[in-house]
Amino acid sequence: MRNNKLLTGIVAGIAAGSLLGGLYPEAGLAVHFIGDLFIRFLMMIVMPLIIAAMISGICRFGDVRKLGPLGFRTILYYLSTTALSVLTGILLVLAIHPGQLASETEQIEARGGTVMQDAAYTITGNTVIIEGFSLSESHTSSYSVILLDRNVTGKITASGNNRVEVSSWVQNKKHLAALDGKGKGVIIDKLPAERFLQEERSITDILQEVLTGLIPFNLFKAMAENDILPVITFSLLLGAVLSTLGEQGRPVIDFFNGLNEAIMKIIHLAMYAAPVGIGALIAGRLGEAGGFTGFLPELLRLGKYAFTVIAGLLIHSMVILPLILKFFGKTGIGRFAYNTSPALLTAFSTASSSATLPLTVECAEEKNGVSPRTAGFVLPLGATINMDGTALYEAVAVIFIAQINGITLGTPELAIIFLTATLAAIGAAGIPEAGLVTMVLVLKAVDLPIEGISLILAIDWFLDRCRTTVNVWGDSVGAKIIDRYVQAASHR
Ligand code: ASP
Repeated sequence: MRNNKLLTGIVAGIAAGSLLGGLYPEAGLAVHFIGDLFIRFLMMIVMPLIIAAMISGICRFGDVRKLGPLGFRTILYYLSTTALSVLTGILLVLAIHPGQLASETEQIEARGGTVMQDAAYTITGNTVIIEGFSLSESHTSSYSVILLDRNVTGKITASGNNRVEVSSWVQNKKHLAALDGKGKGVIIDKLPAERFLQEERSITDILQEVLTGLIPFNLFKAMAENDILPVITFSLLLGAVLSTLGEQGRPVIDFFNGLNEAIMKIIHLAMYAAPVGIGALIAGRLGEAGGFTGFLPELLRLGKYAFTVIAGLLIHSMVILPLILKFFGKTGIGRFAYNTSPALLTAFSTASSSATLPLTVECAEEKNGVSPRTAGFVLPLGATINMDGTALYEAVAVIFIAQINGITLGTPELAIIFLTATLAAIGAAGIPEAGLVTMVLVLKAVDLPIEGISLILAIDWFLDRCRTTVNVWGDSVGAKIIDRYVQAASHR
């Protein structure tokens, strides 16, 4: 599909979905399952995508042993600029607080829960009868019930008309025996009850967990459970080893290159469904929020979120990267940016670093004087693994989802987001919406609801373009800086 067609389709899908869900909330809810199908499709391709993109990316090094200093500098540049960009995103989202809501009630309602201050309830065994309330069956697995006057929380296991069943009660992180009796004031919260049970974990515990999580006991089990980090470790290792095997490794590398191409094609195919999928998700969300009248505050919050992402991208691309270019590349920003603009505009219109690659190489070699040797190595690799914009966006989006869910993240969790957003950006392919797929890794690492992604889908098509432009800009600046070192080394 041509990209302007895709863009028109997505805009039309968003418009149709907004009208449907906004004006007829019931109809919006009825089409929500089509959006679910779209998310399921994205989840289905996440594993093969990561394996193929990582292995084929790492093999572009050629034989890793030969690359030595050039490889080291390139990786160092990629990692440090990506880390800087994630840091900028985290600081901004913590300062701006785009997901902060005025009261706890609003927070609970924003995540799909209901607050009933005056509802009378009766408990018999593990069954709570709530007067004048009904809960749809489909949501029970992720809901918990809080009894306000007793300050206890229960995990809902089943529900019917005005009745919920609870597996166990929790108070102050301790399990309680079944309660009986009457009371007043109930909250049905969409946060899983396990969160109320979580022990405080120290940073060393979490680091240990992340490190253990890097190495799978059984690779196929990790894949089956959508556990992305161990699969990244394995793919990097396999890619690196394959690249040292010479002729013997060639057919396997070719296989993964072909697989990578095929997966990209599948994602392009998925893009045909994107207008309908995104439209249906928006219709569903709007329906859930009670149409336009219920949705307006949420729209304002999304505006603040988009502002945070864009402000971060601007700071990174117009302040941090130019300073790095000046300091390490001894190159002024004006002319360099002007020379790179054809690639940047292509990145904005295609939302794909890979599709932009021919222009990125052309601008670097022909206009910015980067040697073909450096450009040929640094830029293709950068298009696959160096994504400053994506990393920043993932960190902001995940923290935004936490804020909307009323979950406060501590320093250890922020450290995990910092680490995993960097890894998730490395794992994202240079194609439209890849960042949205790998964000699952970051959400899972800090135990946030994956469905939170649907909160930000409405404007993701636009943010994708903005972050892809920054991704390509970061690759171009990197190629110039690394080339300067390569030239200096060869003159020595
Ligand atoms: N579309 C981005 C790129 O190609 C990746 C992403 O989805 O963030 O660079």
